[in-house]
Amino acid sequence: MFLGVHVSISGKIYESVDRAASLGCSAMQIFSRNPRQWRQLEIDARDAVEFRKRRREEGIGIVAIHVPYLINLATSYDVLYKKSIATYMEDMREAALLGAEYVVTHMGSYKNSTLPQGLKAFIAAVNEILAGTKGLGVQLLLENTAGSGSWLGATFDHHRKIFEGVKDRHRLGVCLDTAHVFEAGFDVRRPEIFDILLAEIERKTCPGAVKVVHLNDSLTPLGSHNDRHQHIGKGLIGLRAMRHIVNHPKLREAAFILETPKETPRSDEINLSKVRKLMQMNHGL
Ligand SMILES: [Zn+2]
Repeated sequence: MFLGVHVSISGKIYESVDRAASLGCSAMQIFSRNPRQWRQLEIDARDAVEFRKRRREEGIGIVAIHVPYLINLATSYDVLYKKSIATYMEDMREAALLGAEYVVTHMGSYKNSTLPQGLKAFIAAVNEILAGTKGLGVQLLLENTAGSGSWLGATFDHHRKIFEGVKDRHRLGVCLDTAHVFEAGFDVRRPEIFDILLAEIERKTCPGAVKVVHLNDSLTPLGSHNDRHQHIGKGLIGLRAMRHIVNHPKLREAAFILETPKETPRSDEINLSKVRKLMQMNHGL
C-alpha cells in the first residue's frame, strides 16, 4: 500500500521529492513538463541522479509521471498526432531517467472523427511508443475519464479494445480515477458497485491491472460527465465509500495518489491525514 499526492515540479526536479517527503508520502506523482506547454527543458542527468537518490532515501516506493494534457494520441489531426507521439516518447525516456515506475495518460479525444477511428489511432500510437521505447522499465497506465465530449476512456470497453490491440500489452496498466469513474456514471458510493467495477476492469484488461488509484472526491454529480475534483470526504462520493476503496484487498499493491484541490498550504496534509485515518480504521476492526 502506497499513499501520496501530486506535487509541483517547480525549481529543480528533485525538489518535488522533498515536497512529497515532507508530507510523509510513500508515493508521488509529477507532471513531466508544464501540462499546458509543449516546450520542454531537458532534465539534467545529474538532477535525475539526485532525484533517484532522494527518492530512495525518503522511501518513496512509487513515482508516477503524468503526461501533459496537450498530448492527444487519438486525434485525427496529423500534426498534433505526430507531435503527441514524439513528446510521449520523450516523456517515457525521462521517466526512465528518473526511475519512475509509471507514466499515466488520459486516452485522448477523437473530436471531428469517430470513436472507432479514435481508438484505432490511439492503439497505433501506443504500439509506436512502446516499440520506440523498448527495454525501458516504465509501464504506461491508461487513466479513465469522466466522459465529456469525445474523450476516450469513460467506459472500460475502450480499455479492453486498447489492451487487445497493443502488442506489448504487459507494459500497459490502468490508473483508476475515483472522481472520473463516478462522474462517468459508476455509483462507487455503493461498495458492491465498486467491487463489480474492479472485477470488470480486470476482466477487460488483465488481472492486477490497477496500479495507481487517483483518489479524488467529486464536486459534480453521478454521471455528470463533468470532471471536477473535490477534497476527500467533502464531495459527493463521501468518506464511507472512500474507506471501502482505500482498504480494498484487490488494491493492496496499488499506489493511491491524491489530486485533490490545493486551496491552502495545508490542503494536502489534511486530505492525506483523512485517508490515513480511513486506512487505520479498517485495520482496527
Ligand atoms: Zn486523475
